[in-house]
Amino acid sequence: MAEALIGLQPSLVWKHFGAIAAIPRPSKHEAAIARYVHEVATQNSVEIRTDRVGNILLTLPASPGREGAPSVCMKGHMAMVCEKNSSSKHDFLKEGIHLQKDGDSIHATGTTLGADNGVGLAAMLALIEDKTLIHGPLEFLLTVDEETGLTVAKNLDATMVNSRILLNLDSEEEGALYIGSSGGRDTNAKWDLQVEDLPEKMQAFSIAIKGLKGGHSGLDIDKQRGNAIKILGRFLLEVEKLGVRLSSVSGGNKRNAIPREAIAYGYIPNSKWVEAQERFRKFTEQVKAEFHNADPGLQTEWMGEGLKKGKVFKRTLQKKLLRMIDAIPHGVIKMNHDIPGLVQTSTNFGVLNTGRKLITLSTAQRSSVATELNYASHSVASLLHLAGGEVETSAGYPGWNPNLKSPALQLVANTHEKIFHRRAEVKAIHAGLECGILVEKYPGIDMVSFGPTIHNAHSPDESVAIESVEKFWTLLREVISSYAAI
Ligand SMILES: [Zn+2]
Repeated sequence: MAEALIGLQPSLVWKHFGAIAAIPRPSKHEAAIARYVHEVATQNSVEIRTDRVGNILLTLPASPGREGAPSVCMKGHMAMVCEKNSSSKHDFLKEGIHLQKDGDSIHATGTTLGADNGVGLAAMLALIEDKTLIHGPLEFLLTVDEETGLTVAKNLDATMVNSRILLNLDSEEEGALYIGSSGGRDTNAKWDLQVEDLPEKMQAFSIAIKGLKGGHSGLDIDKQRGNAIKILGRFLLEVEKLGVRLSSVSGGNKRNAIPREAIAYGYIPNSKWVEAQERFRKFTEQVKAEFHNADPGLQTEWMGEGLKKGKVFKRTLQKKLLRMIDAIPHGVIKMNHDIPGLVQTSTNFGVLNTGRKLITLSTAQRSSVATELNYASHSVASLLHLAGGEVETSAGYPGWNPNLKSPALQLVANTHEKIFHRRAEVKAIHAGLECGILVEKYPGIDMVSFGPTIHNAHSPDESVAIESVEKFWTLLREVISSYAAI
């Protein structure tokens, strides 16, 4: 066992965590970790099934006399996110993770730790080995490739899981029970770029919006941060009246990130130059005041020198483009009424680009409610159609709509309260989880997600709180016992 883990409790879980951490396991390279799972399963006479993409299902028969208890499936993913510090020479394909103990937590040396989802995986293998536990029929679903997108989970064989109850062991906050996630879909459009010669007596300028916080298009969408494209568009629409002609407008670089920067190039009639600058100064004051709290780093920049002259957008196209930027919605569309603070439906206006021949833009909608996701996506599509765009909608991925009446939630929450003498927090996230795909695959499956406390997952600062692993294990064992008693 790795030195950092010696003496930690529960020893069975840490033993497997140490073994898992020693195995290189980036996404799409899960063969070695799958072999380890096979070994443990075989030693414990557990039945193993692997589907054609590599997802594994382990089946553990009930303890004698508990065959009639409800079957429960636990789920985790085998790969880990591989991120390292720029100074690290670590080779994720060849080397195991170097573990370190620092006070009350475990972390790696310059790399991600893989506690996401290594602890969940270790707990599953520990359950298989734990001969003192009385349990009903158990299944363990170990998926491949979760961390590079939800694609492979989609290929999961729909006949794999027999249980109607699923415990997803891939959450990062001890004391919280997750019961929902958002579905997502992209709505994109493009236009032919029509240009014409620049009229006489105009002077080149560029303006930029920068310094915004941006963030994740789901998790940060309720923070009321500025969208650089929308802010830029507002100003351009204002100075259009002065005869401004544009040659380029672009902003953002990811459909699922809130745009932090946007920049436009164009020309101002010589006679309106001073007025345009004055308006820009006022506009800057206005938006800085609007965002002084949510996005205090907002900066605007005006440049008027050293720019070459070229073509401009046709007037009708420019009109359309500016009105479209103005009209495309961005932000929260609806909050959830059951879980305080949870965004239910939102849209992110993520990217706008004017290239040489095309104008392209990307938006991303999210919702935990399938019909609302449809609605949000096609209402943005309608707008893009009205603006004459060629619209394309991605297939996306399904959401997991929170159900506060879920019997699994009640059982896990009651068990939590019985052991720890406090109510667990019930939460959902406005981002995609594999659970959404499982709900679609296994309609009506009753699901709860919980795990130990993992900080800074997906970054080289990832760490797991030692004490939370013991609590997670205690809760998991107790939940399995409770089901066995039904
Ligand atoms: Zn994970």
